[in-house]
Amino acid sequence: MWKFIIAAAAAYMLWKMFMGDTKRRKEEAKQERETLIVRGEMVKDPACGAYVSPEDSVHASIEGRTMHFCSYECRDAYIKQLRSGSNGNKG
Ligand SMILES: [Zn+2]
Repeated sequence: MWKFIIAAAAAYMLWKMFMGDTKRRKEEAKQERETLIVRGEMVKDPACGAYVSPEDSVHASIEGRTMHFCSYECRDAYIKQLRSGSNGNKG
C-alpha cells in the first residue's frame, strides 16, 4: 500500500514541478522580451505600438530613418498618417 502512496506523492511532486516550470517559463519569456526591448533588439511599431524584432519586421526608410512595423498595413497607415498629418501643409 505504501508503494502506492509514494507513487502518488511522486506524481504530485512532478505535477508541482511541471506547473511551477510553466509559470516560471512564462515569467522568463516576459523578462527576456523586456530585456530585448531595453537592449534595443526589439523595436516599437510606431503605428500600433507593438514590439517587433528588427529582423522579422516590415521596414521602411522614412525621412532618412529606418522604421520597423509589424505588418504592411501598419507601415502604410504610418506613411499615410505622416503625409496627411503634420504641419497642416497641404501639398
Ligand atoms: Zn503594427
